[in-house]
Amino acid sequence: MRSPEPLIFEISKPGRRAYSLPELDVPARDVAELLPESEIRREPAGLPEVSEIDLVRHFTRLSQLNHGVDIGFYPLGSCTMKYNPKVNEDAANLPGFNNIHPYVPDELAQGALQLMYELQSYLAEIAGMDYVSLQPAAGAHGELAGILIIRAYHRARNDMKRTKILIPDSAHGTNPASAALGGFTVVEVPSDERGGVDVEALEAAMDETVAGLMLTNPNTLGLFDENIQRIEKIVHSKGGLLYYDGANANAILGTSRPGDMGFDVLHFNLHKTFGTPHGGGGPGSGPVAVKSFLEPFLPVPTVVLEDGKYRLSYDRPQTIGRMKSFYGNFLVMVKAYAYIRSLGPDGLREASRDAVLNANYILRRIAGYYDVPYDRHCKHEFVISPGKIKKETGVRTLDISKRLLDYGVHPPTNYFPLIVDEALMIEPTETESKETLDYFADALIAIAKEAYEDPEAVKSAPHTTVVGRLDEAGAARNLNIRWEKPE
Ligand SMILES: *Cc1c(COP(=O)(O)O)cnc(C)c1O
Repeated sequence: MRSPEPLIFEISKPGRRAYSLPELDVPARDVAELLPESEIRREPAGLPEVSEIDLVRHFTRLSQLNHGVDIGFYPLGSCTMKYNPKVNEDAANLPGFNNIHPYVPDELAQGALQLMYELQSYLAEIAGMDYVSLQPAAGAHGELAGILIIRAYHRARNDMKRTKILIPDSAHGTNPASAALGGFTVVEVPSDERGGVDVEALEAAMDETVAGLMLTNPNTLGLFDENIQRIEKIVHSKGGLLYYDGANANAILGTSRPGDMGFDVLHFNLHKTFGTPHGGGGPGSGPVAVKSFLEPFLPVPTVVLEDGKYRLSYDRPQTIGRMKSFYGNFLVMVKAYAYIRSLGPDGLREASRDAVLNANYILRRIAGYYDVPYDRHCKHEFVISPGKIKKETGVRTLDISKRLLDYGVHPPTNYFPLIVDEALMIEPTETESKETLDYFADALIAIAKEAYEDPEAVKSAPHTTVVGRLDEAGAARNLNIRWEKPE
C-alpha cells in the first residue's frame, strides 16, 4: 500500500523544525543594522514548518515523480539518454576542478588546461578533424559557431555571394535555426525514398551562392547516408563547405569519422555522446572541430601547449570571437574526459556498436506490429509509425507514448522527424540489458494489440502516473509553482 503523500505545506505545524543549530556565539546584531529598510520583510515568509524526516520524505518523493534514466528505460530518440557512469560525476567533483576560479592565472591552472588540451586532441582524433574549440555550451551553440566559421571563411576569401545554407528536410530544427541566426537563407533539400539526401535535388540546389550543407550522418531517421561520398563531391566542387551535426555521434565512435567522410566543420554534443547526463536544461557542451584550413576562425580562447606549459591562446586575428564567457562549461569537459579515458578507443567503439545492435534488435522485434517507413538496417536509432494502427483504430503516436508511461518507460521522441507521419523515434542506447530491450519491445507489441482490443484504454492513458494528460504548452508557458491554501 502506498503511504499518504501530503503536501509539505499541509503537514506544517508551528514551531516544528528540520534543523538544530548551536547557540549563537558571536554578538547578535539586529538585521535592521545590516540591511536597508526596503530589504526587510514585514511578515514571515510563511514557509512550511516540518521535522527533518518529513522534509527528507518530501524531497525524496518529489525526486521520484519524474522519470529519469536512473529510474527506468528512456529511449528518447536523438537525445542519447544513456546511463552515464557516476565516476564521471566524481571526477567533476574533485576540488581542484570544481573550485577553480576562472580568473586563476594559467600557471596555477596547469591541470585543468592539460585536461582541456587533451580533450581537444581526443575529440579531434575521434572526429578525424585537426583542431577543436571547447567553448560552445550546447549542440545548437556549436552549430552557430560552425556556421559563423563557414561565414568567416567565405568572407576572408572575399566570396560574398554565398548567402545560402542547404539543409535536408530530415534535419533537427536547430540546424535551420542556427543557419538563419548566422545570417543565411535556408534552402531545404528533400530526402529520397531510402531516407538519405536526394542527390539529384542536392545537385540542382548546389551552386556558387551556397555557403555549405549541414548534415547529420546517420541522420535523424537513424540511417547512414549511402551517398555521402557523392554528396561531398557535389558540395565541394562548387566551393561549399560541409557541416556535420555530431549529435548522432553515438552511432559512429571508432567506426567512421566525419573528417574522413569529407566534412570540414562539426560539433559534438558532450551531453549526449560523452558521458554527461542530458536534459533538464543543461549544462551541456558543444565543442566545435575543424579541418586545419578553418583553424584561423575558431572561437577564442583555445588551449595550446608551448615549451611544456599549457596556456590559453587568444592569438587568432581572424577568429569569429568568443562564443561564451570564459572557457565553456568546464565540468562537462571533465566528465567527457573521464568517460573517454575510462572507455578508451576500444570501449568507445564497443559502445557505438552495442548502441547500433540494440536499435536493430528492437526494430526487428517490433517490425511486424508497426509501420517501418524506411526498412533498412538502422544505426543507433530508428523511426516507426503507427500509421496502419491509426487508420484502423484511431490510436495515435501520442496515445502510444502515454500508454508506455504505464509500463514505466519514458516515451520515444514523438512527431519527429517531420518527414514521417506520426513518427515514433526510438534510441535504446548501448547501456541497456537484453531484458530491458525485450521488456520494451514486449510493451510496444502489447500496446499495438491493445489498440485493437481496447482502443479507449490506450487513448485515455496514462492510468498509473501522478498526473494524467496535461495541457503541455500551458504547463510550460503558464507554469504555476505556488501552493495556495484551499478555500
Ligand atoms: C540534440 C540535437 C541537436 C541540438 O543539441 P542541443 O545540445 O540540444 O542544443 C542538434 N542536432 C541533433 C540531431 C540533435 O539530436
